[in-house]
This record gives sequence, structure tokens and C-alpha cells, in this order.
Amino acid sequence: MAKKDKWEELEEYLNSWLAQAKGCLEEAEDINEMERAILEMTRKLGRRMFRAALESKGEQVEGRECHACGGETKRNGRDGRKLVTLVGEVEFERQRVRCKECGEDFSPSRLGDRALTEG
Ligand SMILES: [Zn+2]
Repeated sequence: MAKKDKWEELEEYLNSWLAQAKGCLEEAEDINEMERAILEMTRKLGRRMFRAALESKGEQVEGRECHACGGETKRNGRDGRKLVTLVGEVEFERQRVRCKECGEDFSPSRLGDRALTEG
């Protein structure tokens, strides 16, 4: 079975997100509560979209050359990153690669280099 890509995962999440948003709005007693629920739910979705976009870009490492020696690289695990964004804290993973020539270990994706913490 083919591995789902990050956008297909997000598409599946949308159904549960929508059900949750509906629940929050139906429970809201007034306009202020609706407004708060909508802000909270859109920020929540925004964080998931951020993660899907960051992880999707980070997966595209095929054919990447080593930045140190130009050698061929292979996949070598992942690292966790955390970003503070306008929609809140976004946690995501980046693919790491290791150079077959010199052993350099790095993330080809520069996204998340301003990350707060490394997992
Ligand atoms: Zn190298």
C-alpha cells in the first residue's frame, strides 16, 4: 500500500476537524463564544496546514548532494522541530540525510532552521 502523503493526511483530518468545529459552534451561547470558537478552530487547522506544508517540502530529498563534499546522500532518520507562528506553535519533522562519502549528517530542508527546539 502506498504511503499517504502529507496532504492526503490533512484531507482526512478535515472531516474530524469539521465535526469538532460544528460541535463548538453548536454549543456556543452567543456571538462572542462563536467568535472565540471560530478563531480557535481556524488556528488549529492553520497549525495542521503548516505542518503538512513543512513536512511535505522536507520529504523532497531525492538526489540531494552533500553540502560539504558533493557526495551522494541517503536518508537517515528525522529530527523534530518546533516553530512559533501566527497560528501558534507548530511541531513538525524533517528528513535527515547522511553522506555516503564523508559521513556528513544534515537536513537538506532549511525550513525550520529558526526552530526553537530540536527533538
Ligand atoms: Zn559529503
